[in-house]
Amino acid sequence: MLAQAEFEESTVDEVRNLIIVGSGPAGYTAAVYAARANLKPLVIEGVTSGGALMTTTEVENFPGFPDGILGPELMDNMRKQAEHFGAEFITDDATRVALEGPVKSVWVGETEYRGRAVILATGSAWRPLGVPGEQELLGRGVSSCATCDGFFFRNEEIVVVGGGDSAMEEATFLTRFASKVTIVHRREEFRASKIMAERALSNEKIEVRWNSKVTSVLDGGGRVGGVRLADVRTGEETELPVAGIFVAIGHDPRSELFRGQVELDESGYVKVAAPGTATNIEGVFAAGDLVDHTYRQAITAAGTGCAAALDAERYIATL
Ligand code: FAD
Repeated sequence: MLAQAEFEESTVDEVRNLIIVGSGPAGYTAAVYAARANLKPLVIEGVTSGGALMTTTEVENFPGFPDGILGPELMDNMRKQAEHFGAEFITDDATRVALEGPVKSVWVGETEYRGRAVILATGSAWRPLGVPGEQELLGRGVSSCATCDGFFFRNEEIVVVGGGDSAMEEATFLTRFASKVTIVHRREEFRASKIMAERALSNEKIEVRWNSKVTSVLDGGGRVGGVRLADVRTGEETELPVAGIFVAIGHDPRSELFRGQVELDESGYVKVAAPGTATNIEGVFAAGDLVDHTYRQAITAAGTGCAAALDAERYIATL
């Protein structure tokens, strides 16, 4: 990795082929492809490099690892692979961008980096409940992804928090593994579409605690042992012994930095010309969870990261 000071002198005037902002599976995969295409990409990987998988343990659904792989190890491998082919990294946050025109600028503090093309891959953050025990037991019974972690809760009782389509989908999916799923919702009806709500409500493994919220996640010896619930009307508190809690109250794409430049949808996701990765600005591409309402998986992020690098490569070839 080059120190930032070296870049301050060497790249302020240089116009690079490609700058990638973000370092999850999308950013690193884009970097592998772009580096192998000899584009010498600069990856501004963020202060917390490696993305969402750095916060998890076993990843069992990324193809190629029959025995699973630890999230941080997978991300470290991706980074090394990109570095091996000539990608360069700055482990800091991009703080400002100017994306219009043939030369795009990305700032890290006071330092400006310029490129002919930019790939945006800053991911999205799941919305936490913000209650005691949630962060402490993350990855040890607290999850934000049923597809990722449902398998670990065979024959266990679990809780899903939320009332939208995602919560319904997660709860219904989780009944494949769990012996019982309790949906905790703070209102007396779901915000989810009728069809999704009915599917969940007609599932005999699903029960609903209406007008309730989780006030804390309880430690059951290093793993989730239960949740404390409060009735939002009466304030009455009860405890529910469960092995897992899936938080499904929404995701926030990390698109604030790009707002007012690239087009965003009503939820703040970057709009792309799917199945391609082009944004509304020529030479600016976006990939991964930053554009994805639906799948939010490491492999889908890697897939669109690859597509963004190929799109950027073709765009640069036309200049
Ligand atoms: P992210 O991985 O979120 O990476 C975005 C990166 O951009 C981060 O490194 C961030 O620091 C950086 N960034 C943000 N802002 C800036 C900025 N201003 N400047 C520079 N960089 C910036 N998926 C699976 O397929 N299997 C699993 O088992 C699995 N388990 C999961 C477990 C947990 C706890 C979580 C939270 C997610 C899990 N997922 C899993 C989902 C998967 O991690 C995501 O779908 C995937 O990481 C999305 O990749 P991404 O590259 O789009 O974004």
